[in-house]
Amino acid sequence: KHEGRNTYRLYRADMNQQDIRQLALETALRDSVESGEGLAVHYQPLVERDSGELHGAEALVRWHHPDFGDVSPGIFVPLAERAGLIITLGRQVMRQVAAQLQAWRAAGLNPPQVAVNLSASQFWQEGLVEEVRELFAEFDLPRGQVGFELTESVLLDGEQRAVTVIQGLRDLGCRIAIDDFGTGYSSLSYLQDLPLTTLKIDRRFVQRLVGENNRGSAAIVAAVTGLARELGLRVVAEGVETEAQLDAISRYPVALIQGYLTGRPLATDAFAERWLTRPAG
Ligand code: C2E
Ligand code: CA
Ligand code: CA
Ligand code: CA
Repeated sequence: KHEGRNTYRLYRADMNQQDIRQLALETALRDSVESGEGLAVHYQPLVERDSGELHGAEALVRWHHPDFGDVSPGIFVPLAERAGLIITLGRQVMRQVAAQLQAWRAAGLNPPQVAVNLSASQFWQEGLVEEVRELFAEFDLPRGQVGFELTESVLLDGEQRAVTVIQGLRDLGCRIAIDDFGTGYSSLSYLQDLPLTTLKIDRRFVQRLVGENNRGSAAIVAAVTGLARELGLRVVAEGVETEAQLDAISRYPVALIQGYLTGRPLATDAFAERWLTRPAG
């Protein structure tokens, strides 16, 4: 019955190859998002710098399509946003994460908090907090087992209602991180107004800490980590790929590391195998 909608759109004479491919990709994505087929969630560890222990994980959506193969989230997430599919996609991700956490717990494993990325229209949709509350109940998850990451651009068109939504999520025990911090060119006043828990320093600053011309990045990382400490926010360094980068970031008060050096995103079984242990005793 969905056929109609997919075959509906006519290929116009003035469309070039790229437009046609875009449209085919969008149609394929719509099918996958509606059925959930071909969508998976991978998990990347957030590791405590000092102990090397697992602190949390970030849920990263993956899409495999029989014709298009593995499509990067850098391509299909923005496409889902433009095509009005992101709320449904996000719901699939949240439900997959919740079901996985429930399954791991049922298997006697001890999963950490998992952070889910939220796009602007997901964050601003009516009823988000209620949906998350119901998700926790349906999958019998402990308080705060799922948290969220938002970029500064999500909050830009925000104002007062952002406080209400974030506080609603905090009341469910969720941690709320600002993602890609430092890339959004927004004012800093929201840091004072919003009940956040975490700042994630964008990987471009982390990667530029090493090598020539690192003074700008060093100044930014020093300022951001100092600010976070004053505000009582935890800091995650994103995109740590090398020992040299880890050494460089370790000069600053950064407790948590996320990057290929400490652990790549892994499919569920591989993640459990590598990172989840049964509680002792
Ligand atoms: P992000 O939220 O900033 O996620 C971190 C990205 O950096 C991920 O890319 C991850 O695989 C990659 N990464 C992690 N460690 C390293 C490293 O050491 N070096 C480098 N070069 N990269 C590293 P990925 O999985 O391709 O996701 C890209 C973006 O897609 C995400 O950026 C996020 O904005 C978006 N995204 C992914 N999953 C979801 C989702 O479920 N919902 C929404 N709304 N957006 C998502
Ligand atoms: Ca993120
Ligand atoms: Ca990020
Ligand atoms: Ca990013």
